[in-house]
Amino acid sequence: MSAPAHAQGNGSERIWTVLDLLKWTTDHFAAKGIETPRLDAELLLAHALDLRRLDLYLRYQEPVAADARARFRELIGQRVGARVPVALLLGEKEFWSLSFSVTADVLTPRPDTETLVEAALARLPDAERAYRVLDVGTGSGAIALALAHEKPRARITATDISPEALEVAGRNAEALGAADSVRFLRGDLFSPVQDEFFDLIVSNPPYLARADAGALAPELAHEPEQALFGGEDGYSVLRPLAEQAPDRLEPGGWLLVEVDPNQAKTVGGWFAAAGLGDGEILKDLAGRSRAVVARKPTLSPGSEVPGRRD
Ligand code: GLN
Repeated sequence: MSAPAHAQGNGSERIWTVLDLLKWTTDHFAAKGIETPRLDAELLLAHALDLRRLDLYLRYQEPVAADARARFRELIGQRVGARVPVALLLGEKEFWSLSFSVTADVLTPRPDTETLVEAALARLPDAERAYRVLDVGTGSGAIALALAHEKPRARITATDISPEALEVAGRNAEALGAADSVRFLRGDLFSPVQDEFFDLIVSNPPYLARADAGALAPELAHEPEQALFGGEDGYSVLRPLAEQAPDRLEPGGWLLVEVDPNQAKTVGGWFAAAGLGDGEILKDLAGRSRAVVARKPTLSPGSEVPGRRD
């Protein structure tokens, strides 16, 4: 099989249509072990042609000019060679039907994490209330900005330890018209919000185990280690998060944390040990345990439960 942009016939260049290129590239990606070959081919070709992906379907029979083919070939090379994820090649990723800029400084938002957004929204039912919400380790800002989009009255704070990530998140907030509804603060875990209390705390922390790094998709090498790995066993952020979050919750406030499926029970146990109740494990669209949720007990007269301390 010859590469599309090199193909020649009788000295005159062969005509490659959109559909030809998609078929060739899909086969090529599949042969190279790319997980979603057709989708990747479509996204990259649309990018090279400066079209939306769905517009490709109306242009299947149209020939693709040499300059666009050269751009496409370059993208194919990076996708297959260095295994650069499509989102990084495009510089953007859709999450919660919103478009997010992504760079190598942030974790690319995953569809799995929409589970967390959905669960958070279900726990912020009152449209009029100015809920105080905290997103710990916001990265691209995906969770915080999806929540801001759905809950314009909420007062949302988003933290990250990485100044580069906060820059990306800030740009995303601007682009999504949410710069005034989300406050971005730099720091580890709860250090930027030490005296504050929230109605809901949500986090997609780094939770992969470094011990498993060898078995992970090569694409992950292009995302920040800081956003992926929770130490050797995957728990180095999850554990202090579970221990400290209850102190930052209002009575009745919710904690929602994304986890690897094999961590859900352990993290649920820590939530309970930290005094949280109503624990629940939520599944993602693929049916895997993906988030752990629990709630700080509400104050009742004479109860021993520590509440807001300010
Ligand atoms: N779910 C991501 C992955 O497996 C990891 C994200 C994270 O560590 N928060 O690629």
